[in-house]
Amino acid sequence: MNVTATMQTLQVENGAFLRQIREILPEFDPVRLGHEMHARIRELYPICRSITGNGVRETLRRIRQWIPLEIHEVPSGTPVFDWVVPREWNIRDAFIKNAAGQRVVDFQKSNLHVVNYSIPFHGKMRLAELKNHLFTLPDRPDWIPYRTSYYSESWGFCLSHRDSLRLADEEYEVYVDSTLEPGHLTYGEYVLPGTSSDEVLVSTHICHPSLANDNLSGMMVAAHWARCLQQIQRRRFTYRFLFIPGTIGAITWLARNETTVVPRIRHGLVLSGVGDSGSFTYKRSRQGDAVVDRVLSHLLDQEGLEGKLLEFSPYGYDERQFCSPGLNLPVGRLSRSVHGTFPEYHTSADNLDFVRANSLEETLRLCLMIFRVLEANRFMLNLNPKCEPQLGRRGLYRAVGGQADAGALEMAMLWVLNLADGTRDLLAIAERASLPFSAIETAVRTLEQHQLLEERIPGKKALGA
Ligand code: ZN
Repeated sequence: MNVTATMQTLQVENGAFLRQIREILPEFDPVRLGHEMHARIRELYPICRSITGNGVRETLRRIRQWIPLEIHEVPSGTPVFDWVVPREWNIRDAFIKNAAGQRVVDFQKSNLHVVNYSIPFHGKMRLAELKNHLFTLPDRPDWIPYRTSYYSESWGFCLSHRDSLRLADEEYEVYVDSTLEPGHLTYGEYVLPGTSSDEVLVSTHICHPSLANDNLSGMMVAAHWARCLQQIQRRRFTYRFLFIPGTIGAITWLARNETTVVPRIRHGLVLSGVGDSGSFTYKRSRQGDAVVDRVLSHLLDQEGLEGKLLEFSPYGYDERQFCSPGLNLPVGRLSRSVHGTFPEYHTSADNLDFVRANSLEETLRLCLMIFRVLEANRFMLNLNPKCEPQLGRRGLYRAVGGQADAGALEMAMLWVLNLADGTRDLLAIAERASLPFSAIETAVRTLEQHQLLEERIPGKKALGA
């Protein structure tokens, strides 16, 4: 192992949450997983994905080699709420050739060169006319922009501004070898059942072509989160992982599952842009104080992670659909740098160097902590609420009195005993006590072993009450 790798291992080993994650996943190896995720992003990066078509199918087929995805095909023309599943788009080749017959813009070199969903076209034209179909970034002259035309029938090419300046005033041959025909919208779904039918929804978009952070990072963390959960024997919640094209995929999934799965969703998270080196950003659900909002607020605030919280807004990724007013699901969004706020966003610079192995694994660790907190967060009732129970008699209090402050576990036990009146969950107790959730969780386990606490299912009366 070289010096950099050793340094990285040391940082990771000392990093947040590792001990707690190894309590549920003893074999958890963050450095190996980070490199594995990055290698798989490299494998999927060249595929030309879109909201429909073979690029998405191929991507899902590869993910199915890692987790047993169920792949769904929804026919074009299917009405989904106010929308209709579009025709399927596929592309084999596209180019602009100069008068000498050289490919000056070539889809084979980068799939970003073609405006995604470009309709088929073959013709010749002068530069002045061609320019109406070209997109560049003058202030980032070496980058290729990413553009789409999903819902308007047109064609276009994206290229670096520097290359566009080299185009001479001559006649060009333009060819877009694409098809836009009745077909299907494809999405993937993986369900890991728990002891309860209550569900946790994890959703990530799969519709961007060669963009690494915006797209592949979310897919990779979701897939590896699912793989980690497979190894955990006891899960309270059922976990549902969606790999769906942005917007129309979420709308399609919601329309098909509105009366079946949707009512069972208790918590949800959209993962997008989770592989860059920026710090974490969590965008609250429309509800604003859903359990998942409180979990992320706690993990980012209390547990020393650098991160910021954003209020809900009706713009962004598929949280827009999950949090539309008629559904209003408790679904927030986890990202690192926020879309649209960094120059690499939707350009060829969102590439394999822009996503980092250690950022990917750090996100995976946060996701596993979200799992831990969601699973352990319960309502508890102190069974001995009149004055403090005598902890010393049970061996739960330090033997020597008179010390200046109580130990961490003792403080956590005192808070739990005081606040566990069945009206607030453990997360609320951790927040009120300004203690890490893990300390509260340990105190609860200890007190339960001594029959001082029992779980109270909200809405049900406690035994003997
Ligand atoms: Zn995007």
